Amino acid sequence: MDLIRAAISAGDRAALASVAVPDSYRAVVVRADEAEMFAGLSTKQKDPRKSLHVQEVPTPEVGPGEALVAVMASAINYNTVWTSIFEPVSTFGFLKRYGASSELAKKHDQPYHVVGSDLAGVVLKVGAGVSKWQVGDRVVAHCLSVELEDPQGHDDTMLDPQQRIWGFETNFGGLAELALVKSNQLMPKPEHLSWEEAAAPGLVNSTAYRQLVSHNGANMKQGDIVLIWGASGGLGGYATQFALNGGAIPVCIVSSPEKAELCRRMGAELIIDRSAENYQFWSDEHTQDPREWKRLGAKIRDLTGGEDPDIVFEHPGRETFGASVYVARRGGTIVTCASTSGYWHEFDNRYLWMSLKRIVGSHFANYRESWEANRLIAKGAIHPTLSNVYPLSETGQATYDVHRNLHQGKVGVLCLAEQEGQGVLDHEFRARHEQAINRFRGV
Ligand code: NAP
Repeated sequence: MDLIRAAISAGDRAALASVAVPDSYRAVVVRADEAEMFAGLSTKQKDPRKSLHVQEVPTPEVGPGEALVAVMASAINYNTVWTSIFEPVSTFGFLKRYGASSELAKKHDQPYHVVGSDLAGVVLKVGAGVSKWQVGDRVVAHCLSVELEDPQGHDDTMLDPQQRIWGFETNFGGLAELALVKSNQLMPKPEHLSWEEAAAPGLVNSTAYRQLVSHNGANMKQGDIVLIWGASGGLGGYATQFALNGGAIPVCIVSSPEKAELCRRMGAELIIDRSAENYQFWSDEHTQDPREWKRLGAKIRDLTGGEDPDIVFEHPGRETFGASVYVARRGGTIVTCASTSGYWHEFDNRYLWMSLKRIVGSHFANYRESWEANRLIAKGAIHPTLSNVYPLSETGQATYDVHRNLHQGKVGVLCLAEQEGQGVLDHEFRARHEQAINRFRGV
């Protein structure tokens, strides 16, 4: 790995091409024989520090259409929280099914799962049929893995029946020294950013772009009022930026004064601290309290001068969904990509149909949407929201922070990069955006 690291830091493509690909590499894994280790514990009690291990794994063969990337940095996504606590199901079922789907995919079915759905790094090897990318290219990867052998995915690749999230539903993810991707996951690294800054937006930036901006999601337009749950979190930090960048008006919901401050630093003005307001949307486990929905609606109108949200950016799920449907304006859109607090949602359907609202399901993003989201980062229109950065050996702690909601924005992980701040090539462009980058990083 030292030779690879040295060739990358010297920017020497020829040297990189001549390095023998190592037979094995360090990776963050969960193990199939530990899938029951948290049986009987509550979600909160399940500790990613116990289930995530850093271990040596064999380097997979690089098949047609694939690329092996030397990973300089990665980041934690909530999907790694789910994998590490084996909820709602163990991800080894995904690997088994994928492995059985084709000769090429067989290698994914292993007793270990290398996790992680973000990376910034350098292409180390490409498989047969790959011509767009070469050894030495500096890249980031989005996490959409598709086969595209069926017709359904050819209008929107997210509709491919063989659509999977790399590093969650496939093996050989980004929290490692090497990662295996399909070449159509690769995108150019924004060169004004360090490795860890470039890796961090990845999954959540693309997801928020489709969910909020794309015609496949809420199709936001200027002037729209956008209610954003978890507005300083992984998804929310980018949704807030897309709203501001696109001329919409975000109403940011967060749970602490520190998180409110981060939203303010991004440029948001309308902020609700849900902890200070102490909303109790559920009076007990089975019963919601519509008076609390109304209290939230009144607070939003207070802030907006009497207007209701055109779009509600949903992901907390069960706990907030009834309120989200209620507060959306007549004809408004509730766009959802997740159910962190529970996936059995309940809402009063009268508020949906009588007020002609729409619920739109959204999931990750296609290559084009991811490319656009990354392009906005490269142009300095959207900035990484990176807070803490951990070494690979402490990925368990990094994941624990996200599981326990102790973090802001994104939590980064250094893989082959030995320290923060490496990997910037375009210093002049960075200097122009340095203040904003630091503001969004909370420096
Ligand atoms: P995150 O960084 O943990 O941020 C989520 C934020 O939501 C938290 O910081 C918290 O902010 C807020 N929140 C959490 N529980 C809440 C509750 N019960 N009520 C109200 N607000 C709550 O996670 P993320 O990366 O944004 O991901 C959020 C969810 O989306 C996860 O379930 C993840 O798996 C899912 N996801 C799905 C996709 C997809 O493609 N379908 C992509 C990315 C993520 P405050 O405490 O400040 O309110």
